[in-house]
Amino acid sequence: MGIVEVSDHDAACTFFDAFVDICQSDLLLGGDQFCFVGSDKTAFGKKRREKKCKKYHDFIHSEYLFSFDYTTFGLKFRIFDIIAHHLKKDLYLKRLLLFSLLFFNILHGFTLTDRRVEDKVWHSGETFLGFLEENMLPLRLYYDLDDEDEKITSDIRTNTLYQILRDDNYEIEQVLIPLNEELQIHIVRDLDGKYRLAIEPILYQTRERRLALKLHHIFSKDIVNATDNFLLAVELEQLYRKVFDFRRLKKGDRLAVLYREKIRLGKFYGTQLVHAALLESRKKKYYFFRNPKDGKYYDEKGKTTERDGFIVPCRYRRISSVFTKKRWHPILRKYRAHHGIDYAGPVGTPIRAAYNGKVIFAGYKGGYGKTVVIKHKGGYKTLYAHLQRYKVFRGKRVKKGEVIGYMGNTGLSTGPHLHFGLSLNNVWINPARKIVFTKGLKGKERKRFMKAVAKYREELDRLETEASAQIIVEEDENSTAAKAASDKREKQHG
Ligand SMILES: [Zn+2]
Repeated sequence: MGIVEVSDHDAACTFFDAFVDICQSDLLLGGDQFCFVGSDKTAFGKKRREKKCKKYHDFIHSEYLFSFDYTTFGLKFRIFDIIAHHLKKDLYLKRLLLFSLLFFNILHGFTLTDRRVEDKVWHSGETFLGFLEENMLPLRLYYDLDDEDEKITSDIRTNTLYQILRDDNYEIEQVLIPLNEELQIHIVRDLDGKYRLAIEPILYQTRERRLALKLHHIFSKDIVNATDNFLLAVELEQLYRKVFDFRRLKKGDRLAVLYREKIRLGKFYGTQLVHAALLESRKKKYYFFRNPKDGKYYDEKGKTTERDGFIVPCRYRRISSVFTKKRWHPILRKYRAHHGIDYAGPVGTPIRAAYNGKVIFAGYKGGYGKTVVIKHKGGYKTLYAHLQRYKVFRGKRVKKGEVIGYMGNTGLSTGPHLHFGLSLNNVWINPARKIVFTKGLKGKERKRFMKAVAKYREELDRLETEASAQIIVEEDENSTAAKAASDKREKQHG
């Protein structure tokens, strides 16, 4: 059992910082083992700590991904996600030694010398097949994929950060390439030296939080100052810029937000999910409430906040596939992602631009076949795939509703359909979230929604009042409503 003793608080902090950096690589194998024993007896006794280590030890021998919380010095560190794959005795010992060494290096102030993990960036135009070739990995890893998985490899985003772990002979041991914020491609060399590929979930932690603050500089900057969460600031800015002119923001305007933060490897990660938000500016209140059923935002009256949305790009017989970042396929027994909506219909059905924009791609795009990509304002792009033919060219400006091509069956497609993808700042999002059908919710759905709104609103208003005094960022396990429990907690905090 590798145990690193840390003698004081500062050393521990240094240790954890470095630890998080190392684990950023998240290319650790099952059997990688490190354990941390703090010397702060007030946190918890040594015995208990060892028990935790034991628990950790058991965890690591499970076959899959896991994460682990470590509490010490009164601080909670969410330390790592690890891919525990297979166990190999000598590898295990080697790595144990390596990590122990690394840690002692850190503790003694040496810089890290481990350079086997390469952080790399997926460059524009790079294909998965090209990647395999370049790295002398077997091409069958690509050819053995089924159609859907093959297609998803063409969704790897430009500028995606990915990692390669090499052994001492500079041969590739593992590769991790994120497909979206939920799934990643994992290539790993087996014990017999054969490479395998799997599409696996990316693990992260979530926490329900409440934020209340008085604004005084710049909307996003204030949020970052209060929370350190840049991703949350981006999310809220995206929301509010539809209904609010930030130039009108006044010192003393108030913001209250209920949201779910996502953390991975000690850093905020992916989408920070805003459940409800309230901005009070110049005596006027601007509310946003998310309807979990459709993922769209509505105001306090259940009216849509998407004033100027995307249109459905074609007539269709049925939706043959919906958007998903991660779905377990029970028959194939594997994880699937689908970065768009598939509209099935007859070959030749006209396909229309979902919004005004400029064509940035018109051509053949791997599994997507004949494809058009249009860039729109606000960081949005739409993708239209499997076309029979297209009638636009790169650089052409198109209007919402303008015919850009015709439905077909090109690329990896089992029947004529349009694959319609939408990305925001190069991240695939659900097009259904941005397509506006109606002005608001109706009937039963509205009733249900308004019930949730009432709860959220109560909490937002209360939070907002608190913001008049100070900045509050508070953890809350019960996000959905102002409950007695949170009131109790309130008293304890106050
Ligand atoms: Zn599709």
